[in-house]
Amino acid sequence: MDAQPKKLVLFDIDGTLIRHFGPEETIRVGFNRFCYAISHVFHIHVTADPKVHYHGSVDRAILFDIAQDHGITKAQFDEKWNEIKSAVIDYAHTQETKPVYEAIPDAVTLLHLLRKKSDQYLLGVLTGNVEKMAYWKLSHVGIDPALFSLFVTSDEFEDRISLAKSVFAKVEKEAGISVAAKDTYVIGDAVGDVRCAHAIGATSIIVTTGRHKREELLLEKPTLLVDSLMDERVRKLLGLNP
Ligand SMILES: [Mg+2]
Repeated sequence: MDAQPKKLVLFDIDGTLIRHFGPEETIRVGFNRFCYAISHVFHIHVTADPKVHYHGSVDRAILFDIAQDHGITKAQFDEKWNEIKSAVIDYAHTQETKPVYEAIPDAVTLLHLLRKKSDQYLLGVLTGNVEKMAYWKLSHVGIDPALFSLFVTSDEFEDRISLAKSVFAKVEKEAGISVAAKDTYVIGDAVGDVRCAHAIGATSIIVTTGRHKREELLLEKPTLLVDSLMDERVRKLLGLNP
């Protein structure tokens, strides 16, 4: 019988693998996509307050929050969910003409080191993005989505914990293997990533390249908090030998 990867490493996208490119104002790019989608699907004028801290949440919940603020009910939202997702992607394609995100180099280096040992590590994405948006963002910054065997995205989930809890069934179904919680690692930048890891009994490796503050992250008691994914403690914890 062929050896199967024993460890599952789940990467968050925003703030972990990629960051906004350019000045602070570019943070609006995500809001613009969401506002466009809700406006387009429901034929209403939509605005969102960028000061509201949505990061670490899941797209489906953020989009519903925006829609609800404009009088859309949950039933109306759910009925149009596929159209909303398509509108988000359509808008993202109009943003392709200039870089709106860039890859975080140390995260990419770690990703490639793990990928070289695909006999030991199964790589996945665990993100609040909807699946097509996850592919779009990775491709936009030059990270090949094919590096990941598994995409756990917010298409069907309204909170990050439910999303995380779907991981093990998805690994069995899509990769045909079962992985133990103790061999599962969540790599992220946000409070929500630590909570996800706790909820499924996984190890959390949290990096300060996102928008969450160190003190805020420490309160959640991540297994490891680092400023760079090239910190040697990350490789040690993952058991990644040279
Ligand atoms: Mg993140």
